[in-house]
Amino acid sequence: MTKHYDLIAIGAGSGGLSVAERGALHGKRCAVIESGPLGGTCVNVGCVPKKVMWFGASLAHALDDAAGYGFTLHGHDFDWSRLKAARDGYVGGINDWYGNYLADSGIDLLRGTARLIDARTVEIEGAIYSADHVVIATGGEPVVPDLPGAEHGITSDGFFALETQPKRVAIAGSGYIAVELAGLLNGLGSEVTLLLRREHLLGAFDPMLRDTLMESMVDAGINILSSTQTHEVRRHQDGTLNLITGKGQALGGFDGLIWAIGRRPRSAGLGLEAAGIETDPRGFIPTDDFQNTNVPGVYALGDVTGRPALTPVAIAAGRRLADRLFGGQPERHLDYSLIPTVVFSHPPIGTVGLTEEQARAEHGDAVKIYQTRFTAMYHALAPHSVATAMKLVCIGAQEKVVGCHIIGPGADEMLQGFAVAMRMGATKRDFDDTIAIHPTSAEELVTMR
Ligand code: FAD
Ligand code: NDP
Repeated sequence: MTKHYDLIAIGAGSGGLSVAERGALHGKRCAVIESGPLGGTCVNVGCVPKKVMWFGASLAHALDDAAGYGFTLHGHDFDWSRLKAARDGYVGGINDWYGNYLADSGIDLLRGTARLIDARTVEIEGAIYSADHVVIATGGEPVVPDLPGAEHGITSDGFFALETQPKRVAIAGSGYIAVELAGLLNGLGSEVTLLLRREHLLGAFDPMLRDTLMESMVDAGINILSSTQTHEVRRHQDGTLNLITGKGQALGGFDGLIWAIGRRPRSAGLGLEAAGIETDPRGFIPTDDFQNTNVPGVYALGDVTGRPALTPVAIAAGRRLADRLFGGQPERHLDYSLIPTVVFSHPPIGTVGLTEEQARAEHGDAVKIYQTRFTAMYHALAPHSVATAMKLVCIGAQEKVVGCHIIGPGADEMLQGFAVAMRMGATKRDFDDTIAIHPTSAEELVTMR
């Protein structure tokens, strides 16, 4: 017999869990289908374990800095396997919490791999379920390049499975994951080589952020090779890896290689054709502003849609969709503009709104830029100095703030409140009229000239 629900979400990651949770709060019968651990990418192989490692690396930097504050440390060893075990325990606790939460909320957890039979019916390993509303929230997966020997490398998924620390690691890529893994591995003591296929990292970010991060990473000892594309990977008898680049160069002696060159949607094998659901050429499922696919009653949200691939975006889209379908809020939908984001590099980046380049392209001479660069007070006494840089992008006579870009220690925690102000339409004058908090780095954002 087919079990029927008001809503079925395929994927129990950030998006699927959120839409089902909000649907249940509206009193609807909801189910989530999951083939892997609960919580999806973010909890298991994304934000959460990454942030644990980032904290670890930040602590390593703090230990280095301690001498400047009068501490004599009597040696310290770092044990990768202990950190990994603690991290796995923490993630396992979150998995369990979600299991209990679903049960307590009356949401059915259907285990297995889902395939659509039609727009209202899903098959999970022989069992059939139907729903008035089907939400596709299957996320994405890392890309491995198609080149000889690529299988000798791992992806971010493999990184989180590493039981031992790579001593000499190459990372190919230039986006969020490449710079985050490079920063944390470097902080924890690995020798890191970052291979950029172009000149820059974080291509879509404001140049001030890109350049300052590049400088900081080089200062921290990361070997950055720009315009370097890997053409072949060879494993030696001693187990080390050799990378042959497009320029014919051989880069050798790596005990680890991480591909961090982007992610693709998990939409293949889902039965989209059977349900008549369209994808774009890369496999993403396009939606309108209300998360509707081209098929009525079928929705998509999160990484599988090709919209900004961030956990809070998937969560917000899921909650708003359930509010629209079941909460009597027919116009409720996610506004995808002004999405704040943090790159957990060392130092971190916080950014929201238009880059200077985008603002000039859209608003020409109406753009006014305020920027500053300094060394945060903490580093005045620390042996290593790290740059902080900030930029406000303003437009028009009112100098409405349309972009806020920060790199430096604390940027990750600094941005959220400024994003609220910008969503409310804050002008440079509003920033100036706000009393500074002293002594902080954040105060520079309200005192810039
Ligand atoms: P997912 O979380 O990927 O969930 C999809 C789920 O669907 C998975 O559990 C999968 O097993 C399941 N599934 C897929 N197909 C099927 C099927 N056919 N049947 C049953 N189940 C299926 N974002 C941030 O905001 N901050 C960060 O710091 C951050 N760090 C990240 C670090 C890394 C290394 C990575 C890879 C990502 C990071 N992200 C971060 C991005 C964030 O993890 C994703 O944007 C978010 O998880 C997307 O949620 P989702 O629900 O769309 O998909
Ligand atoms: P990104 O899309 O951020 O970056 C991948 C980059 O790698 C591309 O932009 C490209 O840059 C480069 N690249 C592509 N193909 C190749 C290739 N063959 N060889 C070398 N370089 C290549 O992808 P990520 O995998 O880093 O992350 C995926 C998404 O996950 C992010 O966009 C983000 O949305 C999310 N995420 C969020 C985090 C956070 O919020 N802190 C952390 C981690 C991930 P170029 O064209 O400039 O060469």
